[in-house]
This record gives sequence, structure tokens and C-alpha cells, in this order.
Amino acid sequence: MNTIDILGVSVDVVTMDEAVSRAKAYIAEEKAHAVYTPNSEIIYAAYKDAEFCRTLNQADMIIADGIGVVYASKILKAPLPERVPGFDLSCRLIEEANKEGYSVYFFGSKPGVAEMAIENLKKDHPDLKVAGFADGYFDAEKEKTIIADIKEKQPDILFVCLGAPKQEKWIAEHKDETSARLLLGVGGSLDVWAGTVERAPEKYQKAGLEWFYRLKKQPSRFFRMLALPKFGLTVLFKGKRVKKGKNNE
Ligand code: UDP
Repeated sequence: MNTIDILGVSVDVVTMDEAVSRAKAYIAEEKAHAVYTPNSEIIYAAYKDAEFCRTLNQADMIIADGIGVVYASKILKAPLPERVPGFDLSCRLIEEANKEGYSVYFFGSKPGVAEMAIENLKKDHPDLKVAGFADGYFDAEKEKTIIADIKEKQPDILFVCLGAPKQEKWIAEHKDETSARLLLGVGGSLDVWAGTVERAPEKYQKAGLEWFYRLKKQPSRFFRMLALPKFGLTVLFKGKRVKKGKNNE
């Protein structure tokens, strides 16, 4: 597997089509596989938190969600072929699930959101086998019930939409208990499918300005987004050093 080290995180050098093929190969194997979709913010969080960085690197596949990660790969002289947004990968997997008969389970977001997302997805994917869903706000007791429900339903694909780093930590800790074959940490995807959050229009995506659109729509993300310039500067000045294995200095 070809990977590139971005601030200590091993990002897979894959196109969208390759990511989909690999995801399908994971579903064919009788074990749990974790796929994470970090953007620059999340990679910078991992750079600052060695344990989270280790958690990320235990994944079977890490794809470059944000344009910032692709720019970073260029700075590091190991360019990624393209951006593979987690939401787009999820949409491709829904299409595959509809076609191939994979069962899917949706876990995360506020109560009521998964139901709306399923209703919308079913309009375009009438054969989609929905194994189940659960919202992402739980205490220890409710979490046990959710895990038992997933285990009973044995979904091929489990979309975990708890936001980062919660979803990656959750997947790392529980993936083997769930009986799911493919677990993806895909943040706000359920919100977009449900229509409660709008995805940036294509012109923003193509211009690499999706982050700007999200900031306009959700100004509360401002402080989170301060990580973006820090990420860029760290890659620029320390990226090569980290590539040689000196993380978190
Ligand atoms: N969320 C959740 N449980 C939590 C915290 C967050 O289910 O304890 C959900 C939240 O409702 C939202 C998603 O996680 O649907 C995170 O969305 P965000 O846009 O922050 O995702 P990211 O930017 O990390 O992809």
C-alpha cells in the first residue's frame, strides 16, 4: 500500500475509484476495517496529540478529505492524485450498496437526522438495505444498546458520524464488537443527506474553498478553522522533518 506521511499521519495515495474498490474488497473479508477521512484540521489535531495520531494510523485506509491535505502532499513533494472527500466516498458506497445489496447502518448526528437521511437516500436508492440507525448522543448504557443492535444487524457498512476525533476513537475501540465489515468515520454526512446542513456548491469545492463556505454558513467553526493556517505553516516548515519520523516536536 502506497502512503504518504503528512505530519505523522499515513495518508493513502488513492483516487476515488481506488478507494471505492478497496472499500469493496474490505466488505468481502470477514473482519472489521476502519476507514478515516481526515481534513487538515484533523491531521493537525493528530500532530498535536500523539495518541490520536496512533489511533488514526491503525486504520486500514486513510483518505485525504480536504484540499489542504492535497496541497500539503504537494509541498512534501509526494503529490496525492486527488482529493477524496469522505462525503463523496460515502455517496459512492451508498450507490454500491444499492447495486450490490450491501446492508448499511447509520450511527450518529442528532435524534431524527438519520431517519430524514434514510428517507432522502431511499428516494434515489430504492433497493438500499438499511440494517438500522442510532443517533450519536449517548451515555454508557445507551452505547451498549447501540453496539448490541449493530452486532445483531451485522451491517456490511457502518457509517459513523460523530465528528472527529470522537468517531475515530469510537471505531478504534469498538469496531471488532460490531460485526460490521467496513466502518467509516464520516462526520457531518448524515446532516447533508438529511438536508439539515448544506454542502458547499461545486464552484466552491472546485476552487478549494469549501472551508470558506462552511465558515460563512457556520461562523461558530471559526476557532476550529484556525488550525488551517497552523497546519499549512507546520507542513511548510516542519513537514520534511516529521516525514523522517520526528513527530510532535
Ligand atoms: N455528533 C454526534 N455526537 C456527538 C457530537 C457530534 O453525533 O457527541 C454529530 C453532530 O451532530 C454532527 C456530526 O457529529 O452530525 C459532526 O459534524 P461535523 O460537521 O463537526 O463533522 P466533521 O467536521 O468532523 O466532519
